[in-house]
Amino acid sequence: MKKFLACLVFFLLMSQTVFGRSIPVRMDGKSQAVAPVSVQVNGKNLNSAFSPFATNNRTLVPIREITESMGANVAWNNTTKSAQVSLNGKKVLLKVGSQAVYIDGKKKTVDTGSIPQFAFYKGQGETKTMVPLRFLSEALDFQVDWNQERQLASISNMKAVTLLPKEDQKKASPVKKQEEVKKQDSAASDTKTEERVIQEKVHAKGPVTVVVDAGHGGSDSGAVSSIDSSVKEKDLTLKVTTSLANLLRARGYEVIETRTTDEFVKLAKRAEIANDESAEIFVSVHFNSAGSSAANGIEILYAPESKVKIKKEEQIHLARALHEELKKATGSNMRSIKQRPDLAVLRWTEMPAALCELGFLSSPKDMEKIQEDGYHEVLATGIANGIDRYVRDYVVK
Ligand SMILES: [Zn+2]
Repeated sequence: MKKFLACLVFFLLMSQTVFGRSIPVRMDGKSQAVAPVSVQVNGKNLNSAFSPFATNNRTLVPIREITESMGANVAWNNTTKSAQVSLNGKKVLLKVGSQAVYIDGKKKTVDTGSIPQFAFYKGQGETKTMVPLRFLSEALDFQVDWNQERQLASISNMKAVTLLPKEDQKKASPVKKQEEVKKQDSAASDTKTEERVIQEKVHAKGPVTVVVDAGHGGSDSGAVSSIDSSVKEKDLTLKVTTSLANLLRARGYEVIETRTTDEFVKLAKRAEIANDESAEIFVSVHFNSAGSSAANGIEILYAPESKVKIKKEEQIHLARALHEELKKATGSNMRSIKQRPDLAVLRWTEMPAALCELGFLSSPKDMEKIQEDGYHEVLATGIANGIDRYVRDYVVK
């Protein structure tokens, strides 16, 4: 019987943990049982003896624990019962019991469910300062995802990217300009000699969409190796883009492939896919061929601004990032970055686009590498790193 009771107690405890356990707290003088919420910060569970919980359809989290795991600083003012949270130069001021909050000095009003408040955790006998998870996360440029089934709130700033170096800020898009100029001014007055403005993390809202284009396909073989006629460009490009798509997806990108099988896709269609999906980046993969077996190495092509309605700065930055990272990954001979306004996929795409010629099928030197097992993954890694570098430095969403 004792054993049975023990089992029953154990089962009840377990079931409480798994199904709708509730936490007794006292807030605003009222005792209540609130539903616990799991919180993940950048993929890691929030470690706290004081569970975040939901009330009024909002998740409240203990400020100390959440700011710590976000990497933010918090300064508590006991007189005003307010907390200033700062991260990457951004400041958020919250006051217990107040709907008024301040982001970088600008007043905002949170909904009543999101009012910061004290919660007395009856189990632990301790009072914690609770802040609204969604509001705080978004104010500090974290993305918030809510999983209803798991009662799990995940916040992430993994797509955090760095603002442009100072010299490139002038060229940034008009949307960003005002904010950046302000930052630039204050930095300039502090340290005029400094080359770069303090690099600030800026969060990209949602994943960056990349279109990965495997050159040729189907009836269009592309280049056929003069060294080994069984080696066709269309097969090599697909191998690289398949690896590349997997790599990028694993890194959190939204990836669209213009083809995933050996099929013919019109050039106009390839550009159309990218434009329709409002992709941020278009990368086309090709291999080269030349009359002379001496020609070898990798080259990157892009369309200059004068020929397409894309900022040249952005185009060249993407090309450079790919060039540098492919060099690192492959150790290959790197040919130059070339302007090619005549290529359809570069000209018709409305986003920064680059075409990578990943080696010559007519070069014995290149063919040796190309025919190595796993080399397509090396190429894919170089391209993925190039995209990462470009996004980190230039894509601010
Ligand atoms: Zn080609």
